[in-house]
Amino acid sequence: MKNIYGETIAELEEYFLSRKEKKFKATQVFEWLYKKRVKDFSLMTNLGKENIAHLQEDFSLNPLKLLTKKKDVDVSKYLFELEDKNYIEAVLMNHDYGNSICISTQVGCNMGCHFCESGRLKKVRNLDASEMVRQVLAVEEEENIRISHIVLMGIGEPFDNFEEVLSFINIVNAPKGMEIGSRHITVSTSGIVPKILAFADYDKQVNLAISLHAPNNEIRSQIMEINKAYPIEQLISAVRYYYEKTNRRVTFEYILLKGVNDSRENALELSQLLKGLNCYVNLIPYNETTHIEYQKSDKETVLAFYDELKKNHTAVTIRREFGSKVNAACGQLRSNYKEE
Ligand code: SAH
Ligand code: SF4
Repeated sequence: MKNIYGETIAELEEYFLSRKEKKFKATQVFEWLYKKRVKDFSLMTNLGKENIAHLQEDFSLNPLKLLTKKKDVDVSKYLFELEDKNYIEAVLMNHDYGNSICISTQVGCNMGCHFCESGRLKKVRNLDASEMVRQVLAVEEEENIRISHIVLMGIGEPFDNFEEVLSFINIVNAPKGMEIGSRHITVSTSGIVPKILAFADYDKQVNLAISLHAPNNEIRSQIMEINKAYPIEQLISAVRYYYEKTNRRVTFEYILLKGVNDSRENALELSQLLKGLNCYVNLIPYNETTHIEYQKSDKETVLAFYDELKKNHTAVTIRREFGSKVNAACGQLRSNYKEE
């Protein structure tokens, strides 16, 4: 049985139309699910008895099962069990501008980035849109809050699960639903170029983050397999297209790995690579994991890298290092839990 939280308004409209019903019933269902947060079709009184009975036959309303939660000052991490007993995780961050959730899009990941725990575990399957929506709902319910920002930066490569990710964005974005604005949604990708281009044509003002992590092909191919398929020049030109279509400033994520990509020369080369693009670099302290050899760069190296970018007029921020106590780097909680 399909889970109702994976249906877009358009899909529900189809559903009602196919049953010779009025399509505005779809909007009513959305209001019950996402505004009133009703968890039982029988409470959706304005739909009428017959529609309620059909919905009960055709859809489930099952939530995700929360297995464990780890809490730090302003970050919490949640491990969920899916219906087929796979695990995924989500991270909640409390910012001064609102509550932001980082959700998973796949069970594992096939991109095989050498520094990443999710890649080490390989892809088991894609999540469907309902499993993404239900991460948001479960965390809101658990904490009794409303989430204002969503980042698709947990386990998985969103653009390796393109259709379901689009449905997810469509659902959380719906004005009669959760109403999370496109500009409050960020998709992070390792750089699947054709999907970046397709996403640009999707014409939503969603933010794009690119996991760049290197200033040239030589280094990037050493740490990210995907660079062999879509080298940096192609990636940058796709980003340029994305900017032209959406007018959204693109973020480049850059994990600093000791002795790999963190020298002053690397910073200078990065500045030159990004020259003329409306973008900024987010420097990320590497979250060391027990299974992978890479080490984080030390503080002085990080600051020198930062200074070099500034000096060369590249916009840059250093990500606050939250979450290492709660295994907040992507895939770590799931990986550790499996071992326990
Ligand atoms: N697959 C997508 C989104 C999920 S990964 C992508 O790669 O963009 C989200 C981010 O976490 C990526 O920038 C990734 O490079 C980074 N990341 C992975 N492992 C990490 C670790 N151990 N420490 C810090 N960042 C990590
Ligand atoms: Fe997958 Fe992203 Fe991890 Fe690479 S960094 S293995 S793309 S989750």
